[in-house]
Amino acid sequence: MNLHEYQAKELFARHGLPVLPGQVATTPEEARNIATSLGDTVVLKAQVLVGGRGKAGGVKLARGAEEAYHAARAILGLKIQDLPVRKVLVARAAEIARELYLSIVLDRAAQLPLVMLSAEGGVEIEEVARVSPEKILRRHVSLDGLRPYQARSLFRPLLADGSQVSQAADILLRLWAVFRDGDCTLAEINPLAVTPEGKLVALDAKVTLDDNAEFRHRDWNLWRDPEDETPGARLARERGLSYVKLDGDIGCVVNGAGLAMATMDLVKHYGGEPANFLDIGGSSSPDKVTAALKIITSDSRVRVILFNIFGGITRCDDVARGIVQSLEQSPLAVPLVIRLTGTNEDLARKILAERGLSATTSMDEGVRAAIAKAQEVFA
Ligand code: GDP
Ligand code: MN
Repeated sequence: MNLHEYQAKELFARHGLPVLPGQVATTPEEARNIATSLGDTVVLKAQVLVGGRGKAGGVKLARGAEEAYHAARAILGLKIQDLPVRKVLVARAAEIARELYLSIVLDRAAQLPLVMLSAEGGVEIEEVARVSPEKILRRHVSLDGLRPYQARSLFRPLLADGSQVSQAADILLRLWAVFRDGDCTLAEINPLAVTPEGKLVALDAKVTLDDNAEFRHRDWNLWRDPEDETPGARLARERGLSYVKLDGDIGCVVNGAGLAMATMDLVKHYGGEPANFLDIGGSSSPDKVTAALKIITSDSRVRVILFNIFGGITRCDDVARGIVQSLEQSPLAVPLVIRLTGTNEDLARKILAERGLSATTSMDEGVRAAIAKAQEVFA
């Protein structure tokens, strides 16, 4: 689960990290009131669960309550990467002399947390990572954590001033506590700003919680907002289907996680791009198939839907019935490619044939047909 910046900052504040005071508004009037209570210059920031808000016009400075009102109006009308902005954080603004980058991320390959830091933080950090990755320092952390001297030695090359090195080290140790105690897979501060007076402040906060640890954090539930989820993700969660949206255009409906991975591999192998990982699981009632199709078609990027079913406990006829049922309720706007094999496949083929649908038994064939269809739509 990803936290909003204002939520992540609450978590940071609990761990003693330096964040500036602020509150969330849902209307321009509320933003004006918050700005009045904060005084000084404020910064207004769109609370949507995507990066690059700054570049999308979702971060604005305002001097005084009236400016805050207008900035909030502009931001609350925005859509950032398809997500309408419903909440805006109004926080005391800082003056910035330098912007650093600091994060701790779970490095699954190394099976260790990884600290990353850079003197070139701010909105261009992705560009820095791409063009000059050597400007981002990386250091694995043992699960025992960091010693203060280790934290200081990481920052010494970046910060000339001894007081700033101490502040930064303290921030890293506290960020480590957030990461470890909070069961995070990511805890990021970008920018970690240095003010003209030489104070370090976390001006942005990004936290991803490890959903596998939810059982030991009762409070996480308070952070979950169904309106933050895409319609597809919400439906999948409600129906207990495991769904991960990806960036491609081939929607995949598969039974079993292993087959889902193999399907995505094969799609990639033949030059296609999967739009998702969707596992309808073992015993698939027709209803599950209908839900799966709803989830997949909620992604406007999907150009073709590929069913890849290996019938075991899952019965091919159930899947076929689900497909037919779903098409009766709402016809598909994109082509469908079906691959079925295993339990009751003959019956399944009969059910499909009655509706003028056909299915292949070969996974290779199915995947290639889906890719060809996706490309046809382009042409
Ligand atoms: P992001 O683009 O979604 O990562 O949003 P950020 O919260 O990181 O803000 C983007 C940029 O806005 C930062 O890199 C800063 O340059 C600027 N910014 C954010 N907060 C403040 C602030 O309090 N004062 C000033 N002067 N600039 C800020
Ligand atoms: Mn940021």
